[in-house]
Amino acid sequence: MKPDPTDPIRWNAILTRDRSMDGRFVYGTLSTGIYCRPSCASRPARPESVVFHETAEAAREGGFRACLRCHPDQPETWGLTSNLLTQGRSR
Ligand SMILES: [Zn+2]
Repeated sequence: MKPDPTDPIRWNAILTRDRSMDGRFVYGTLSTGIYCRPSCASRPARPESVVFHETAEAAREGGFRACLRCHPDQPETWGLTSNLLTQGRSR
């Protein structure tokens, strides 16, 4: 079963960086091998190079690595504002 890469609702969530969609899915970018949450500041390249996953775990199983900007592998940070995330320079 392959998710529709052009799912308009999910795609729109990425384009609008809809934080309310954080936790509902993540998306992986085939060209970079990185997966992000919908609100990530990074823009996906093209719809055809993006795959959706229900969970970060599923994305990892698909061979993707967590984005270093939005930390989609840390659900406890989901729901926080992206401002807070971009200020995080603790690493
Ligand atoms: Zn990201």
